[in-house]
Amino acid sequence: MRIAIAGGHGKIARLLERQLADAGHQAVAIIRNADQTADIEAEGAEALVLDLEQTDADTLAAALNGVDAVVFAAGAGPGSGAKRKLTIDRDGAILLADAAERAGIRRYVLVSAIATDDFDSEAAQRVDSDSDDDVSQVYLRAKSEADAAVRERDLDWTIVRPGGLTDEPGTGLVTLAISTGRSSIPRADVAAIVATSLVEGVGIRQQFEAISGGDTVSDALATLRY
Ligand code: NAP
Repeated sequence: MRIAIAGGHGKIARLLERQLADAGHQAVAIIRNADQTADIEAEGAEALVLDLEQTDADTLAAALNGVDAVVFAAGAGPGSGAKRKLTIDRDGAILLADAAERAGIRRYVLVSAIATDDFDSEAAQRVDSDSDDDVSQVYLRAKSEADAAVRERDLDWTIVRPGGLTDEPGTGLVTLAISTGRSSIPRADVAAIVATSLVEGVGIRQQFEAISGGDTVSDALATLRY
């Protein structure tokens, strides 16, 4: 498969690119800084330089020619301020869905976040606020709105909502459920969930939270029940 990954230089994305390359697939990392190309190529992926906050759906769709599936793993990241939670975490994910539809790509995996629907609706409107609490509420709102927009699409979507991310080595053992309760998960295991979902064609039109647990990734995805 040829799989384009938005936020291609991110921590989960790079782990995913390596896992896909090792499994014989071709990842295309969408990055906004051409200086990151060597890092991407070291993971066995190709770089596609495009700033998701400075492009449009037609341009992105044209760049996705020949791609079989897309993954959204971008994010404004810590310290970015509230406005970019909306322009990248929400609008970037929706732009990728628009582009996928225009390019005729059905498969879309979205990396979201645990408990993202539980935001304070008043605080989540304060996009000009510098308060960490307000920014985190805008972040949750951005993820929640992106998920809702993608769920409405006639796409083969999967929405993965990980708990707190760590850089510990992956264990390959997870718990996946509509609601898992708060806990953490290594980024490598999130990458494995995304890769397995793509390669095995499972988890389609399903949204679930993901934390470390006791099931193999394949078993956990195969036994998701809604
Ligand atoms: P990360 O390392 O922060 O990577 C995010 C990537 O998005 C960066 O490489 C960044 O590129 C890229 N990006 C930002 N704006 C962009 C734009 N306009 N165009 C193209 N790329 C852009 O993220 P991660 O740690 O792998 O996490 C992935 C996702 O999981 C994020 O959406 C995050 O919100 C979510 N999540 C996080 C937690 C947590 O505990 N931290 C929990 C659950 C879910 P630059 O290098 O150019 O900035």
